[in-house]
Amino acid sequence: MIKMNEGKPMVWFVCGWIFAAVSAMDFQYDELICVSASGESQTINGLAKVVFYPCTYYANGCRALLISTQKSEHEMSCTFGGCFCPYPDGSCSWKGSYDEVVPHLYTYHQRVPSWNGEELVISATNINVPGPLYWVVLQLCYGHSFVIVIGKHYRENGEQFHVLVQLIGSRRQCEKFFCRLELTGRGGQRYVWDGPPRSIHDGITSAVNNNECFLFDGSIAHFCSSSGTLQVVVNISMETEADGSTQGAQVNTFKSPNPRKHDREVSVSHSNFFS
Ligand SMILES: [Zn+2]
Ligand SMILES: [Zn+2]
Repeated sequence: MIKMNEGKPMVWFVCGWIFAAVSAMDFQYDELICVSASGESQTINGLAKVVFYPCTYYANGCRALLISTQKSEHEMSCTFGGCFCPYPDGSCSWKGSYDEVVPHLYTYHQRVPSWNGEELVISATNINVPGPLYWVVLQLCYGHSFVIVIGKHYRENGEQFHVLVQLIGSRRQCEKFFCRLELTGRGGQRYVWDGPPRSIHDGITSAVNNNECFLFDGSIAHFCSSSGTLQVVVNISMETEADGSTQGAQVNTFKSPNPRKHDREVSVSHSNFFS
């Protein structure tokens, strides 16, 4: 990967002695002369030519130039990749770079509470209010930001809830993290979902439709709630090489109560989906 200050494809002419880099837009190729260290010279016609393309996110500040076979791989993990506002009500059309998402949420969506740390308990209030509804919390850990969205919507067979952890980052960056989401029923039963976060690029609808987030029906939500408040424990961990866990998402239930104590509680009130 090379970096140059142009937002256009770039051609490198490769000869036996030196590399000559020129912008394809600015020069007539056949006017270029390659001069060797010994003073010999030749025109560059007929020499090997390599084309570098700018990253799709050039306008966001990325200055990488890539050969065609590297381009999509780079863009999967490019930190300049733009994204849409992750606020779930559908009323905001903002788009920008990853770095701008959190300032945007604080500025334009002031009801979003945030929490610093790997584990928190979200208390979603008023889950009995007719929906669709959502609750949003920003969780900051490992130098990254995660948007947690609890949602309530309706299916043919009744209420369905989802809890989704979205990384403000690329799909490639998601592979470094692992999430555990947990509900506790009145008798101490635990409902646990394990899986990776989703990239902010992938959106809520596809996560729900593809069963790639914690989904549970209204009866479980009400069984695990108290006075209309549902508590969800969110734990985000970083994958280590040794884990090697490329396992997919799964839900487990446990009969025994979770012995851990939680003093990290963020209470968030509901909002209605904009439609
Ligand atoms: Zn890039
Ligand atoms: Zn927004």
